[in-house]
Amino acid sequence: VEVEKVAVIGSGNWGTVIARILGGNVAQQKGFDREVKMWVFEEMIGDKKLTELINEKHENVKYLPGFKLPNNIKAVPDILEATKDATVLVFVIPHQFVREVCDKLQGNVHSKAKAISLVKGFDATETGIRPISHVIKEALKIPVCTLSGANIANEIAEEKFSETTIGYKNLQEGELFKRLFETKYFKVGIVDDVLGVELCGALKNVVAIGAGIIDGLKLGDNTKAAIIRIGLLEMKKYIKMFYKGIKDETFFESCGIADVITTCYGGRNRKAAEAFVLTGKSFDQLEKELLNGQKLQGTLTAKELNTVLKNKGLENEFPLFTTVYKIVFEGLDPKKIFDDIV
Ligand code: NAD
Ligand code: 13P
Ligand code: CA
Repeated sequence: VEVEKVAVIGSGNWGTVIARILGGNVAQQKGFDREVKMWVFEEMIGDKKLTELINEKHENVKYLPGFKLPNNIKAVPDILEATKDATVLVFVIPHQFVREVCDKLQGNVHSKAKAISLVKGFDATETGIRPISHVIKEALKIPVCTLSGANIANEIAEEKFSETTIGYKNLQEGELFKRLFETKYFKVGIVDDVLGVELCGALKNVVAIGAGIIDGLKLGDNTKAAIIRIGLLEMKKYIKMFYKGIKDETFFESCGIADVITTCYGGRNRKAAEAFVLTGKSFDQLEKELLNGQKLQGTLTAKELNTVLKNKGLENEFPLFTTVYKIVFEGLDPKKIFDDIV
C-alpha cells in the first residue's frame, strides 16, 4: 500500500483520544491519507446528532468534552462508510460490541486492510471466551495487532507522558503502527506478542474491580499493593495456562504491571467498585450515574471469565478472580475479599 488510510472504529473516551492522536500524526507523517474517519455509534444530544456536533464543533462533547479534535477527523455514523477504502482499521469500542460490528464489516473491508485492537476484554460465546483479536481476524481475514498500556484516556488527552505497548506478529506492521500512534507524550514499545499484550489488558479490569472494593472498605496502600501483586500473578497464570507463546517480558511492559497499577488507582472500574461498596447500589446503576454513557468492562469480564473457570473446575486456582465475581454477582460480602485468597 502506498498511502495508508486510517479509520477509527469507536468514539468513546479512549476512542476519541486516539482519534485526536492519529489525526495529528497522519497530517505530519509521510505515507498516510490526511483524512481520518471515526465511526460513531449515533445518539442524540438534546435535539442534535452526536456526529453533527463532533463535525461542527470538532469536539466530542459527550465522551471527551473540553478537548479539540483536529479538523481532519470526520465523524461518520455508518460503519461501512466510515471504513470504506481504509487500509488501517483501529478497533476501540467496548468489548461487548465487537462481534456485532465485525458482522457488519464482514466481506466489506479493503483487501490490503490490517487491524489493530485497543479493546480490553474478551468475546464471550456459549462455549467460552475468545481474544478480540481472534474475532476480528476470523471475521475479516486480515492481520491483527494489539495496543494496550497504562493509558487512562483523560490523562493522555491532557498530553501527560504515558507509555503503551503494541503487540505484533509481523515486525513491519509493528513498526507501521508505532509510527502511526507514537507522540512525544505517548511512547510506544513494540513486542512480538499479540496475545500477551491484549490479554493483560482484558484481565486487569477484573483486578481493578478488586482494587475498588478494597478502596471502598478503606483499607490501605499495602492492601492495594497486595491486590495488584496477586492480581498480576493470576493474570499471568491464566494467560499462560490457556495460550501458547506468551512472553514473560510482556508482563513488565506498559500493558502488564503498569496498566494494572494505573487502573487500580485511576480507572473507571476502580471508581465504580469503590462506590458499590460505599453505597450498595448495583453496578448497572452506578455505571449510569457515574460514567455518562461510558462503559465498565471489568464486571462483565469477571462474569465471562468465571463461566470458564467454573466449567473447568478452576475457581480455586484463581481465588481473586473468583472472589471478585462472587462479590459482584453473588452477593458475597466485600469484607470477605481476602478469605479465599489467604
Ligand atoms: P467508553 O466506555 O468511553 O464509551 C462507550 C462507547 O460505546 C461510546 O462511544 C458509545 O457510543 C458506544 N456504544 C454504546 N452502545 C453501543 C453499541 N450498541 N454498539 C457500539 N457502540 C456502542 O469507550 P472507550 O473508553 O473508548 O473504550 C473502548 C475500549 O477501550 C474499551 O475496551 C476500554 O476498556 C478500552 N480502554 C479505555 C480506556 C479509557 O481510559 N477510557 C483506556 C484504555 C483502553
Ligand atoms: P478503566 O476502564 O477502568 O477506566 O481503565 C482504563 C484503562 O484501561 C487504563 O489503561
Ligand atoms: Ca482463607
